[in-house]
Amino acid sequence: MPEGDTVYAAAHRLRAALAGKTLTRTDFRIPSLATVDLSGSAVGDVRSVGKHLFIDLIRPGGAAVSIHSHLKMEGVWHVYRRGERWRRAGHTARVVLEADAVQAVGFDLGVLELLTDPDAAVAHLGPDLLGAGWDAERAARNLRADPGRPIGLALLDQRNLAGIGNVYRSELCFLLRVHPAASAGEVDTDTAVALAHRLLTANRLRTVRVTTGAAARGRELWVYGRDRRPCRRCGTTVVREYLGDDTRPADTSRSIYLCPRCQPRPD
Ligand SMILES: [Zn+2]
Repeated sequence: MPEGDTVYAAAHRLRAALAGKTLTRTDFRIPSLATVDLSGSAVGDVRSVGKHLFIDLIRPGGAAVSIHSHLKMEGVWHVYRRGERWRRAGHTARVVLEADAVQAVGFDLGVLELLTDPDAAVAHLGPDLLGAGWDAERAARNLRADPGRPIGLALLDQRNLAGIGNVYRSELCFLLRVHPAASAGEVDTDTAVALAHRLLTANRLRTVRVTTGAAARGRELWVYGRDRRPCRRCGTTVVREYLGDDTRPADTSRSIYLCPRCQPRPD
């Protein structure tokens, strides 16, 4: 599942492939952008902010525009040599960007749009865990700002801090030994934020996400996706739950995994 580290890595790959080059062909395969042609544009930076990715361009006339994408659940960016066989089905491609022999293809992107003011799209986000201006203190303060909110929801709220998705919130709660339904005000949010920063930083350019320290296949994560299997710490069966709070129903599209013994439910 794409989280802040996935998007950071995608930006890294796209930057290496495209930055400083001129686009020789563009092909947007969504109705709203079907007539757009950005060939001749110079690629400036390629960057991630939380789970948002921006490809900054200068159009031939000098106007700045940014291709904004968000991977959501299924999205991915691949870089190919032109003519190389794609590793995803062609009908799922939403955009193709070519610069001479290099081809970048965005598949199944949850958001794809052109923005003249890209900063406005991410102005609501909290500190970016992998950004240059990372501010741990502010992130921890944001998490505590609504002390009665379940920590499992506060961690996922990109307005508090940007980059944590469904995998990391389960893993973080396990590592903190807190039940995801525990109130944010009862959690050591400084430690939570430091841990999140350490994990995302360590994983930002890895191909496999590891939170246990063991990269061997099947041993990478503590609890995420491991329901009905024994907790790696105590042997109790890991369970899968959905988390809601007073103001909204449980989000049933996003499971949370936990060990009922290591992470006892709050009273
Ligand atoms: Zn356990």
